[in-house]
Amino acid sequence: MQFAFDNSFHADMQGFYAPAEAAKPSAPRLLAFNDALAERLGFDRRGVDADELARMFSGEELPEGAAPIALAYAGHQFGHFSPQLGDGRALLLGEIVAPDGARFDIQLKGSGPTAFSRGGDGKAAIGPVLREFLVSEAMAAMGVPTTRALAAVATGECVERERAHPGAVLTRVASSHIRVGTFQFFAAHFGADHVVQLSDYSIARHFPDLADAANPHLALLDRVIGLQCALIARWLGVGFIHGVMNTDNVAISGETIDYGPCAFMDRFAANTVFSSIDATGRYAYGRQPQIMHWNMARFAEALLPAIHRVSPADVEAAKALVDAIPGRFRAAWHAQVREKLGLSTSAGDDAELIDRLFDELEKHRVDFTTFFRALAMLLRGEGAMMQALLPAPDAMAPWIADWWQRIEQDAANPLDLADAMDAVNPLYIPRNHRVEAALEAAEAGDPAPWLELLEVVRQPFAARAGRERFAEPAPADAAPYTTFCGT
Ligand code: AMP
Ligand code: MG
Repeated sequence: MQFAFDNSFHADMQGFYAPAEAAKPSAPRLLAFNDALAERLGFDRRGVDADELARMFSGEELPEGAAPIALAYAGHQFGHFSPQLGDGRALLLGEIVAPDGARFDIQLKGSGPTAFSRGGDGKAAIGPVLREFLVSEAMAAMGVPTTRALAAVATGECVERERAHPGAVLTRVASSHIRVGTFQFFAAHFGADHVVQLSDYSIARHFPDLADAANPHLALLDRVIGLQCALIARWLGVGFIHGVMNTDNVAISGETIDYGPCAFMDRFAANTVFSSIDATGRYAYGRQPQIMHWNMARFAEALLPAIHRVSPADVEAAKALVDAIPGRFRAAWHAQVREKLGLSTSAGDDAELIDRLFDELEKHRVDFTTFFRALAMLLRGEGAMMQALLPAPDAMAPWIADWWQRIEQDAANPLDLADAMDAVNPLYIPRNHRVEAALEAAEAGDPAPWLELLEVVRQPFAARAGRERFAEPAPADAAPYTTFCGT
């Protein structure tokens, strides 16, 4: 036995997908395999060598029990509704149930055209595949909810983008691939019956405790809003910019999904944008909470036929849930920042302290990631790291003094607090300049820098000798970083 497939979407949701087949690559070669994840999934690898893994996770030879389908979905892309998107370069092999009972989708990304490809080739290039593998592993290691990467396989073929690149297939593992855009598709084209069916399926799969709610569809909206508030607070907490927060890239499970032009911020600036396709800064770092709010309003609209069917009066309740998002997000965000600052209690003027912090970080262009590690070093009586970060020795002195005073109110041992801060503030993130260099080398045939970076970001919190350079920001005079959707 290798995978215990149990394909509930395939069995229960006919009409919500199209059957599909994987292209068979000419010369699949395993680039990376996630052994820890395989074990967590209960994938029995014994006797399976790298060549067989490469065949299995490139589409050449489907694992036993797979029932490949492409999912239908729609989505608002940069604010404009696209009624028909769907898995255009992805294939859901099926679902497996891990030994602990958790259910996961196993999906191939880049395995050739489907009914939803709209003229695209359905393929993926090695750069984006290795970027998603690396960044999703880093997010998982930092404790941010995310889809995972099980395997990356080079196909031996070329894909044509702005130029030819080596092709690859990513095996993605998600608690499901149901998106806001999935609801939008069925609301737009089919109406209430389909929305109810999708909502019921989603509840049974992800949130069985909601099945008995007075209006389960309203309860689903409430739950997904809560998860999105928590998720975006986590993103902001690690300086993550998703880059393409379209509603088709919002998973209702609350996992980060679709790592395209994403990147991490170095020096703090709320308007930071890296994506070459985001010319107006719609998905800038600091706009992500507002966009989440907007996306949840679209989710509410798509759910309305189902909510209304159970109780017309609940339409108002749905509106109230959406209107309450800014307050709910702010609470999640402040809890997140308090943790980063070592504050174990909440006090009346924390909001002011937090708002001032981000003004100061922006004013002095401080490296976001290192700052919180440097704060913890102050608690240990070591100021050199903070000194090295600031443009002038006393640049943030008043804020730091106020923070210190606030810390003393909590009356914990400063050394314990410093350790608690280090356990939530990553030291090693996938720094843009390192990601870029690693992907370039991998594309040219040298996987070593990518493998080394992966190893480093998989243990983001504990400082390790010999890894100092991975904690350093890009040189101040580095050219501005730009990411390309390059899928
Ligand atoms: P994304 O912006 O990456 O989330 O993708 C948006 C839509 O474009 C999805 O429906 C994808 O399946 C589709 N898509 C992206 N790249 C390709 C490709 N190379 N071939 C076919 N469809 C694609
Ligand atoms: Mg997408």
